[in-house]
Amino acid sequence: MTPAEERALARTHQWFEANSGWAPPDPETLQDWAAEGSCRAPDECWVAVRGTCEHGLASWQLVLDELAALDARRPPDA
Ligand SMILES: [Zn+2]
Repeated sequence: MTPAEERALARTHQWFEANSGWAPPDPETLQDWAAEGSCRAPDECWVAVRGTCEHGLASWQLVLDELAALDARRPPDA
């Protein structure tokens, strides 16, 4: 993860706190977007697969990758 991606993720989490009604895309949708070399940010902007939108939000791919990494680090009994 690059410093720019980390900044975008921090900003995206602030956006999640300030906005309701968002939902992560299902894995199939994410794959369809990736097949076209793009992804959406949580505010619906089209971005590169691991890109950042013009509002500074990270793509869903980055957000979900980060969540998966956090899950992988969590001990099974936590
Ligand atoms: Zn945007």
